[in-house]
Amino acid sequence: MNVHATQTNFVFTPQPTPTLPVAGSDALFPVHRIYCVGRNFAEHAVEMGHDPDREPPFFFQKNPDTLLLSGEEFPYPSQTSDVHHEIELVVALHKGGTNIPLDSAMDHVFGYAVGLDMTRRDLQGEAKKAGRPWETGKSFEWSAPCTPLVPASQIGHPNSGAIWCKVNGEQRQSGDLNQMIWKVQEMISYLSGLFELKAGDLIYAGTPAGVGAVVRGDEIHGGVDGVGEIRVRVA
Ligand code: MN
Repeated sequence: MNVHATQTNFVFTPQPTPTLPVAGSDALFPVHRIYCVGRNFAEHAVEMGHDPDREPPFFFQKNPDTLLLSGEEFPYPSQTSDVHHEIELVVALHKGGTNIPLDSAMDHVFGYAVGLDMTRRDLQGEAKKAGRPWETGKSFEWSAPCTPLVPASQIGHPNSGAIWCKVNGEQRQSGDLNQMIWKVQEMISYLSGLFELKAGDLIYAGTPAGVGAVVRGDEIHGGVDGVGEIRVRVA
């Protein structure tokens, strides 16, 4: 039996579909999965203790219901004392597929946003050490703040431009999209060999160097040139 129910006799009301607004319109983008790339900027790989020449980027997932819209408060999560900001370009797909070739990968992109891959670094560190999965460090409630999506039909496909993050006005992260080890088309093509990509998938494209901890009351303000700016207050 197909697990995707089409009936209306649910035993309880299903959770709502996670969505992102589309900038400049009243349309909503329904989110299917969230893929995140790890160590996609060499300097960030080095600051996390890895050699980017020997360890290529890789992917993990966050649950789509961990999205938090820019401007909302990020509730400081439980079971941690070391929550980090990771500013990232977010790629939104409006077309799916498997084994997508590089030369048609960009046809799958609906648009872009600016996101934060919020991380319980202490729990992620324990998981790494024990060889365990990363969910507790990465996929907790409200761990995926994101701006409204900007359609590629308006801004094109940014492959260079500053990506930065400030906390309480102080510069923490800065890099350029042209430093991404895997480009957007490479991420789509690679992922589609492992998973069936679907319309509604988001890809958090990795963070530049300078990640660090936030505490309650901090104002996180980040951006990607040509895409937008995100603001989140830690509550
Ligand atoms: Mn990240």
